[in-house]
Amino acid sequence: MTTDLENDAQKDASGEGESVVAPREGRVVLAATPIGNVGDASARLVHLLETADIVAAEDTRRLYDLANRLGVRVGGHVVAYHDHNEHLKADGILDEVEKGATVLLVSDAGMPTINDPGLTMVRRAIDRGIPVTCAPGPSAVLDALALSGLPTDRFCYEGFVPRKHSERLQHFRSLLSEPRTIVFYETPHRIAEAMDDLASIFPPDRPMALARELTKDYEEVRRSTVEGIRDSVVNDPPRGELVLVLQGASDEELRHGVGAMASLGVEDLAALAQARAQAENVRIKDAIAEVIAEHPLPDGSLPNKKEVYNAALALK
Ligand code: SAM
Repeated sequence: MTTDLENDAQKDASGEGESVVAPREGRVVLAATPIGNVGDASARLVHLLETADIVAAEDTRRLYDLANRLGVRVGGHVVAYHDHNEHLKADGILDEVEKGATVLLVSDAGMPTINDPGLTMVRRAIDRGIPVTCAPGPSAVLDALALSGLPTDRFCYEGFVPRKHSERLQHFRSLLSEPRTIVFYETPHRIAEAMDDLASIFPPDRPMALARELTKDYEEVRRSTVEGIRDSVVNDPPRGELVLVLQGASDEELRHGVGAMASLGVEDLAALAQARAQAENVRIKDAIAEVIAEHPLPDGSLPNKKEVYNAALALK
């Protein structure tokens, strides 16, 4: 049985159903590809692979590998379309769409534009008034979120965790008071450092999940807390492709936690540091360092240490 959409696509490809004089309307179709299990390829993807006039693929070898596994012949002209040439190639491909071509855009796995090429093509198509549509399908973000067991009613996708330690800390701090469930991508060789940093910022009992090798034979979802996932990556380093899912800040955390205090002024921070220095009998400099680390600014950066120090001197 063919769907309306497939019928439309078939008509587009053959010209059937169009009047003799009307030019065929071209379009760009972003199509999701399997993230590990070839069985997740949709009938629409298969049809588009066979019929699109142009297939823009992140990696042409992976495209042909997928096509072989699906037992389909890629009918159209194949072009390499990746992060490094996207801004150069998009307009030339869209010129062909304007002449009536159907262009299929696929990345190596999952949804194009989600940490993959495609956004430039979408934006330029929008600017030029060229039709762009989507053949949706697998994407690790939604798969991991749904399997995590964490709230799905509101979530945010943060892409890959920053590579550098200092950027990671700042990024995590900026998310401390984020109430929505947070989804990150991460690689196996950085997961231990990333979890160390994440555990140094977020409350240890915050619920969290780590999903790996989704849709593949060794699919695994670890559901625990920040502390539990940090320990698990040390004791049993996860291999393969990974997604981290972190529950958002609870009402309790927002009322009493560090996130809620993020907007304290310099004088407030100085007063807090002074009180701590006295109560814990530590040097004011050390108390200030602790207090500002606990009270990041909304963008995740830390308040200026010197300003807090001067304010503490003025308080004396
Ligand atoms: N466009 C893709 C999507 O829609 O999910 C994401 C591409 S991004 C370059 C690749 C990252 O996605 C991986 O490093 C991993 O974090 C995540 N990912 C992709 N496939 C996955 C899978 N099968 N299991 C877990 N994570 C996966």
